[in-house]
Amino acid sequence: MYDVIILGAGPAGLTAGIYAARGGLKTVVVERKAAGGQAALTAEIENYPGFKNISGFELASLMQAQCEELGVDFVYDTPECLSLDGEIKSVETAYSGTFEGRTAIIATGASPRPLGLPRETELIGSGVSYCATCDGAFFKGKPVAVVGGGNTAVEDALYLANFASEVYLIHRRDALRASALLADKVKNAKGVTILWDSVVTALNGDNRLSSVTVKNVKTQSERDLAVNGIFIAAGQTPASELLPAEILDDKGYVVTDANMATCIAGVFAAGDVRQKELRQVVTAAADGAIAADSAIKYLS
Ligand code: NAP
Repeated sequence: MYDVIILGAGPAGLTAGIYAARGGLKTVVVERKAAGGQAALTAEIENYPGFKNISGFELASLMQAQCEELGVDFVYDTPECLSLDGEIKSVETAYSGTFEGRTAIIATGASPRPLGLPRETELIGSGVSYCATCDGAFFKGKPVAVVGGGNTAVEDALYLANFASEVYLIHRRDALRASALLADKVKNAKGVTILWDSVVTALNGDNRLSSVTVKNVKTQSERDLAVNGIFIAAGQTPASELLPAEILDDKGYVVTDANMATCIAGVFAAGDVRQKELRQVVTAAADGAIAADSAIKYLS
């Protein structure tokens, strides 16, 4: 029996682990992939206080090591069923059995949202990617496209410019959503061409992507753009499919109060899976700290 079961080992879950363990709670973190979450797939993080520039993988590894040193247990397995009502919360995993705890912190994060284009799923791994840091090096010397205008898309375009022969940043509006600093950087980046007011309407190629059809939404004109890779960064979907509807908003994000408490007693949420405005590593970490503190107070 654990005091707290933390679902997800991204910055929110890892920080919750550090605070829970330091608060004397017997803590387990259940993670279905690898520790670090989306942050670990970020090439460079330049806005986590204290680190002018650090790779997301390194930052996440430091957080995980800190958790482990404090005695937090880690289970790498897929949760299949959650029971969150009642005094004892339980998480049933695919292979490692069922874990029980007196509180639960949901820190399952979010994942990239597909565009929903025909052949998008079929071409994953053959030109379509949702992770520039993971797959960028495969496109050395080749032209690629990035879709989106947010921080992820801009960071991806800047990162890919290190490998690709040309990067086309395809954005549906005439202004980027990304922070001013990143927007300025990408507008001046060598090897990046921004296609404003444009959307991708088709993915072309036999077994591998060879071009995308791009439509200008103002003129309605369409053209084929020769690219070998397309990196889709068109927003996120919360990883909340196992969670009860009563704690979710209409987009699937978990609703909490300022103490990270959901409407179920003893269940807290932290990080990107939570309904909130600013999704950053630092806000995920802060959520995790507050959620763990709330769990400690709930138990005492
Ligand atoms: P985001 O901020 O929601 O941006 C998604 C982008 O994709 C928007 O520009 C949006 O266009 C576009 N888009 C959405 N649906 C589309 C569609 N169907 N077709 C074409 N374009 C579409 O998502 P994100 O960039 O993944 O960022 C997620 C969160 O993580 C944000 O809070 C972000 O600030 C944060 N983040 C922060 C950093 C950092 O601080 N370094 C890095 C990465 C992510 P519109 O602009 O027209 O809506």
